[in-house]
Amino acid sequence: MKCANMKLNIKKIIVVGGGPAGMMTAIRAGQLGRTVVLIEKNQVLGKKLLLSGKGRCNITNACELDSFLDRFSGNAQFLRSAFHLFFNTELIDFFEQRGLKLKTERQQRVFPVTDSADSVLKVLEKELHKNKVEIIYNSPVRDVIVHEARAGGVVLADGGSIYGDSVILTTGGVSFPATGSTGDGMDMAQRLGHKIIALQPGLVPLKIRQNYPELWEGITLKNIRLNFSDSKKQILSEIGELLFTGFGISGPLVLSLSGQIVNWLNEGKDVFVEIDLKPALSKEQINERFLREFKTNTKKSIRSILKNMLPQRMVDVFLSIAGIEPKKQVSQITQKERMGMISLFKGLRLDISGYLPVEKAMITRGGVSLKDINPRTMESRIIKGLYFAGEMIDVDADTGGFNLQAAFSTGYLAGESAVND
Ligand SMILES: Cc1cc2nc3c(=O)[nH]c(=O)nc-3n(C[C@H](O)[C@H](O)[C@H](O)COP(=O)(O)OP(=O)(O)OC[C@H]3O[C@@H](n4cnc5c(N)ncnc54)[C@H](O)[C@@H]3O)c2cc1C
Repeated sequence: MKCANMKLNIKKIIVVGGGPAGMMTAIRAGQLGRTVVLIEKNQVLGKKLLLSGKGRCNITNACELDSFLDRFSGNAQFLRSAFHLFFNTELIDFFEQRGLKLKTERQQRVFPVTDSADSVLKVLEKELHKNKVEIIYNSPVRDVIVHEARAGGVVLADGGSIYGDSVILTTGGVSFPATGSTGDGMDMAQRLGHKIIALQPGLVPLKIRQNYPELWEGITLKNIRLNFSDSKKQILSEIGELLFTGFGISGPLVLSLSGQIVNWLNEGKDVFVEIDLKPALSKEQINERFLREFKTNTKKSIRSILKNMLPQRMVDVFLSIAGIEPKKQVSQITQKERMGMISLFKGLRLDISGYLPVEKAMITRGGVSLKDINPRTMESRIIKGLYFAGEMIDVDADTGGFNLQAAFSTGYLAGESAVND
């Protein structure tokens, strides 16, 4: 919104959006002595933060900078200044110095020892209070007020205005809109001339053409290998954990690989995945195991043998894909049937038919173009005094604490830059 007559030079920083990025922005600007107003459209702060890490909040990752940057889907170099100023060790210190002990779990994921995202939010809220940040709840911001190419305030949905000497937009992406992240900030940025890189789901479950996942809903397979391929060549292969959902597949491994798969599907490729249910065993070793089991249990059904090799609920469907009657005695199983089962163990094929929409994704890919933001300050290159931080900018990463660190770091940098403006 352009405005000709307005009061400027009020030494106040306005932060729009009370997620992790906005809270850290407001805290940093407050610590540096500025008057800060944090405007949140919900009646509480950090709704998405409370969902993070299944309610445990995987706050950051303890790996080295270069490995950390590798976990971003692209554009990670943009974050170097923010990480230089405030990285994982600083974030860990920030919480520990305020009494919240943290622990590092597998793959260097850092969580509060309380296993509660609420305890993370409480530290942030206390720090906002300590630094006298004024918080306005239940107030969606509708527009940024701009005067002579400089941000000078915001217009609220009820028509009221708040003036300040800089505005920091931290309204998040568009995933999980019930938490308040509905893309408002990106709309405002676009109206002010910023390019928005197309929004896409990141860390998203995949849909499957076959109906087995529906029958296997809720089953988790640990330490399996997923081999994603298009019709010609293998394209991605990783070991991890898989979750069957009503419509397809999810779980940490699928979410991590989903960014690539979404790109391939968008390119019109036919993508399928072969699940290696026993990555530690060769076909020969599985064959030997079958032969051993068959020899000692001649009267048993193939179903009861497979119950020791697969989650119970998978067995009948597995056998029906193999074309074997579950009650068939193992002594009657032909070599061809045995070979068929071995092939299935090493490559149970599922055809990928699509992915869930961005609203159901953990992360939004795309957002305010990095070309329009100065990475050293997070200030807009188009509107002076306007800053961006958090998920609304065009950076996104894998699961593991990388996205929250990016939100905290860019928020910290934006808060400090706005004070030094
Ligand atoms: C289920 C789930 C689990 C996750 N788990 C993890 C995890 O364990 N580790 C990790 O690193 N990342 C995780 N993420 C990602 C992480 O939560 C986000 O990247 C992070 O919350 C982004 O922070 P943000 O402050 O930029 O945006 P958000 O957290 O989306 O906050 C934006 C805030 O702005 C407010 N807002 C929006 N529009 C307006 C407006 N017009 N006016 C005023 N306020 C407005 C919203 O209400 C919201 O409070 C998870 C995401 C999901 C969905």
